[in-house]
Amino acid sequence: MQDIYDLIIIGGGPGGIGSVVEAKVLGLKKVLLIEKTDNHSHTIRKFYKDKKRVDKDWQGQEVVLEGNVAFVDGTKESTLDYFDKLLDDEVIDSLFNCEVTKVEKEKGFFSVHTTRGAYQSTNIIVSIGRMGKPNKPHYKIPTSIRTQVNYNLDKCGNEEKILVVGGGDSAVEYACELSEANHVTLNYRRDTLGRPNPTNQAMIKDFSDKGRVILKLGVDIESVVNEQGKIRINFVDGSHQFYDRAIYAIGGTTPKDFLKACGVTLDEKGEPIFDDNYECETKGLYIAGDIAFASGGSIAIALNHGYRIVTHILNQRVKEE
Ligand SMILES: Cc1cc2nc3c(=O)[nH]c(=O)nc-3n(C[C@H](O)[C@H](O)[C@H](O)COP(=O)(O)OP(=O)(O)OC[C@H]3O[C@@H](n4cnc5c(N)ncnc54)[C@H](O)[C@@H]3O)c2cc1C
Repeated sequence: MQDIYDLIIIGGGPGGIGSVVEAKVLGLKKVLLIEKTDNHSHTIRKFYKDKKRVDKDWQGQEVVLEGNVAFVDGTKESTLDYFDKLLDDEVIDSLFNCEVTKVEKEKGFFSVHTTRGAYQSTNIIVSIGRMGKPNKPHYKIPTSIRTQVNYNLDKCGNEEKILVVGGGDSAVEYACELSEANHVTLNYRRDTLGRPNPTNQAMIKDFSDKGRVILKLGVDIESVVNEQGKIRINFVDGSHQFYDRAIYAIGGTTPKDFLKACGVTLDEKGEPIFDDNYECETKGLYIAGDIAFASGGSIAIALNHGYRIVTHILNQRVKEE
């Protein structure tokens, strides 16, 4: 008979790291962190540009940290270093390169099925984020230009004419960063860029005033076509422009199938149902981090989820004893 964990955490991003650290600090004995990729924080590694400024109050949301993780403003590198240190300092069982495929509850225990076997636990936190599947536009992207239409900066070169699509902090940061070596237009369907935090608002204003980023606001895209290897963007106002590359920074999707496979009930909009303690309809099953929001999570918010959930698990134990 395998050991039964007090808590298994699925996903090694900020939500998972916050949960694991709180679990150890607050006194849960047997805790296991399971991460699909070969290291923690895959979203940060894949979607943040190198040296990116990391803001604690992301998307303009001021967050007071409630738990034991002292996350502060920094850079991609300082944030990853800090998370490394947190995971090194705590005695944590972890499995990397291990993908969870489903979770079942039987006779009071959860069985977590993974690509490396099954593990049992009395509590589960699902914290797999939303960036496993970035949001895609509603119109078709022709297959012939798929490599020029991206959702992060991995493929970008220099001296390209690039359209960045989106109205949040990531879109603004991508546009300003790319403008160092490229000709960048930022397109957002609304008239104003109201979502980014004050630092990014000031940055995009400055870049736009200096002509380093062209703003095309208040107009949506109707279609995208391939015209002799260039991306032709047709806007709904009848205008069109050609680009070498388009980057969509429009968030991520709810991993509905995965949540269902974990036993999480979804509402009519396909979003997970959970209570004020982030506990789902199945007792002992929690969700943390970005998957708790249709949009607008942040690192600090995900860390707070970990603290609140672990506190709730411990309070439940006291009640049961
Ligand atoms: C470009 C960009 C810039 C951003 N900048 C900031 C910022 O400056 N400040 C800020 O606070 N927030 C920022 N954010 C938002 C922040 O990154 C997220 O809110 C945060 O990462 C959410 O943490 P999470 O743990 O919920 O999910 P994630 O960080 O997405 O982590 C989920 C983890 O789960 C793993 N996983 C997925 N599926 C499985 C599975 N089946 N089994 C096991 N593991 C699995 C993934 O590999 C990943 O490591 C930014 C986001 C983007 C896209």
